[in-house]
Amino acid sequence: MTQRYDVIVAGGGPAGATAAFYLGQAGRKVLVLEKELLPRYKTCGGAVSSRVLSQFPFSFDPVIQTRVNAVSYALRDQIITIPVREASLCMVMRSEFDSFLLGHAQAEIRQGTPVRAVQETAGAVTVETVAGERIQADYMVAADGANSMVARSLGLRRKKTLAGAIEIEAAVPEATLRRFMNNAVLIFGEIGVGYAWIFPKADHLSIGIGALNPRPGDLQVVLERVMQRYGISIQSPERHGHTLPVYSRPELLGTHRCLLAGDAAGLVDPFTGEGIRFAIKSGRKAAEAILAGRPESYTSRVDRSIGRNHRLGNGMNKVFYRFTRPSFNLALRNPVVSHALMGLFGDRIGYASLLLTIASTFPLATLTKKITLEEFLNY
Ligand SMILES: Cc1cc2nc3c(=O)[nH]c(=O)nc-3n(C[C@H](O)[C@H](O)[C@H](O)COP(=O)(O)OP(=O)(O)OC[C@H]3O[C@@H](n4cnc5c(N)ncnc54)[C@H](O)[C@@H]3O)c2cc1C
Repeated sequence: MTQRYDVIVAGGGPAGATAAFYLGQAGRKVLVLEKELLPRYKTCGGAVSSRVLSQFPFSFDPVIQTRVNAVSYALRDQIITIPVREASLCMVMRSEFDSFLLGHAQAEIRQGTPVRAVQETAGAVTVETVAGERIQADYMVAADGANSMVARSLGLRRKKTLAGAIEIEAAVPEATLRRFMNNAVLIFGEIGVGYAWIFPKADHLSIGIGALNPRPGDLQVVLERVMQRYGISIQSPERHGHTLPVYSRPELLGTHRCLLAGDAAGLVDPFTGEGIRFAIKSGRKAAEAILAGRPESYTSRVDRSIGRNHRLGNGMNKVFYRFTRPSFNLALRNPVVSHALMGLFGDRIGYASLLLTIASTFPLATLTKKITLEEFLNY
């Protein structure tokens, strides 16, 4: 006999886990099908604002590796450092973070169970697993990541904008770890439309680089060159490559019974490259649309809460990377703007507010002191 659930969630990352959490909390019978065995490594810098996590009725403290109290922005060898209030930017390892979040969902979780096919009829959605099992549900949340098999099989999101990125979990000497502890570094001006990063974890540094349309091999070469300047050796460690499905335009994010969330829906912020925040937001919106019995409202719910803002982010992206130096000086070196940027990461404000702040505090531009890379490293 075919088993039946209220909702099947494909993928146990932040989008799927969030949808499962809110659906389970509302008493729905939920099944999560996750391809990998958990905990699984996920290529990700693992930076997420504590304010985004504070919506959940439990603490993420057990899986927070570090909280940064400063963000440094570098343009070539000029660096500015902005204190972060109340250490509100958290650093996590996604293997621990994703399992922890999913562990709070009142749902049946089947690990090592990839979804192979999805079929939608008037009365149900039928999911077939790789093992050949067929399972039915009223609805499905497809949160199966950047290469979503479900989106493909439903004929959704045919034209994607993908950025390339690589991530390295770098073991570094104690002195280097101490230098970067509590300080996230974002490095611009090294690779087209994109940036490199150094994010501190409890016992190592997560370093990486991402860019739109990088030339083959560029990410590796540029990352090595940049990290060498920062005194971080990456000769041996394993490199993890992954695509980032960057938001580009409004599009249909569901059918009658299947809703795409997170990377499967292509919701990565086109300017900051963040995806965890929008995976969580869209996972929640998917749960809300299903609980309201209005799955057809999902695309517009996501557009109102994410898409509109991302379209402005697309504009910011174009201006910032076309005029990087003036943008760096006029926006990032303005202490009011750099503080507002933290509000953006924390989902407190959107790009419209940020732009308004840039325009209205123009006289404060370049107020934040720049230092050289050498001064930064010896600080
Ligand atoms: C190099 C890099 C660095 C990044 N750094 C950051 C950062 O610092 N901060 C930030 O906010 N974002 C960052 N991102 C983006 C972020 O990682 C993603 O946006 C986020 O993981 C999206 O969550 P998700 O739940 O939609 O998808 P995922 O986290 O990819 O989860 C999808 C899940 O679905 C499972 N799955 C796949 N196929 C199937 C199937 N057929 N059946 C069942 N399960 C399936 C996968 O195993 C996986 O567990 C980064 C991305 C990259 C590539």
